[in-house]
Amino acid sequence: MSKKVTDIMKERMAFSFEVFPPKTDKGMETLTGKGGVLDKLYGLNPDYISCTYGAGGSNVGKNLEVLKSIKAANVATPITHFTCIGNTRDGIKEQLQTYLDSGIDHVLALRGDLPFGWTGTGGDLHYATELVKFIRAQFGDKFTIGVAGSPEGHISCRSIEADISFLKQKQDEGADFIMTQLCWDLDQFRWWIDAIRAAGITLPVDVGIMPVLDSKATINMALSRNGCVMPRPLAEIISKYWIFDSPFAPTEAEESVKQKKADFKEAGIEYTIKLIDEYRVAGIAGIHLYALNKYEDVARLVAESGIKDM
Ligand code: FAD
Repeated sequence: MSKKVTDIMKERMAFSFEVFPPKTDKGMETLTGKGGVLDKLYGLNPDYISCTYGAGGSNVGKNLEVLKSIKAANVATPITHFTCIGNTRDGIKEQLQTYLDSGIDHVLALRGDLPFGWTGTGGDLHYATELVKFIRAQFGDKFTIGVAGSPEGHISCRSIEADISFLKQKQDEGADFIMTQLCWDLDQFRWWIDAIRAAGITLPVDVGIMPVLDSKATINMALSRNGCVMPRPLAEIISKYWIFDSPFAPTEAEESVKQKKADFKEAGIEYTIKLIDEYRVAGIAGIHLYALNKYEDVARLVAESGIKDM
């Protein structure tokens, strides 16, 4: 059996990575093959590695393959993300049993991002609260269950208070820990931690951190789905190394884009390390780095921030 991540969080701050299932066989080989990205990430000694799950289970085969390879390496606890999108109760039961049969007994229970144009999950369950309840009813304590928390409020919540009350409901239904949506706004995060504790939520909070490495990806993650605030120092880095076409001037071939991207990455790594420092003193139970299926930049972040030795 894998080490229960909530037991680790009782002892000390946990440290983990998130990867995603590659679309191609070549991508799979780069991630899971001998000497590949996962093998290198194991060398950084993470407590757990989670793998995302595509809306509608589109990548479920590759998700399972990645998780099985993490399980086989026996270095870090494998956690699967799992969503309600397009899934029937029977389908959920079957898939979760397959995870258990493969030795994967940790699940991040999510509603899932609704594909564009969808107004509901298109499945039997509509919210993560229902999924947590269903997993506990079907599988008892066989799974350790994580749930998402949104320090700035989920993009479609009717109010942050409603969002927090649904998070409390996830705890009441049997969730074991919280993994947060990315949040660069530490003042907001500190407010949220106080607010969830005041609401009676006692679950450990593992903080999701997206490394700031690329300005396009940073803007996309903040704004394409999540409506995240970008604090002034982060906005300054994006401005300083601006690489986008201007709507107010004809596009000119930008000689310096390559250099600006490299400079942005340096500034972004420095920014991410400071963010990790701030989170570590904000009353959290773990740091969860989105590894983006990369090694070199992630290894640098781990080494320079000191999180390996937490
Ligand atoms: P919920 O908690 O169900 O909340 C969704 C919305 O409904 C919120 O606005 C909430 O306020 C409201 N709500 C919740 N419960 C109720 C209720 N009972 N009644 C009325 N309203 C309610 N997506 C993927 O597709 N695959 C992934 O692998 C994935 N990994 C993620 C990992 C992390 C750490 C995080 C934070 C998110 C991840 N997501 C993933 C995105 C996630 O699926 C989306 O943010 C999704 O839009 C909401 O999921 P949730 O579990 O927070 O939903």
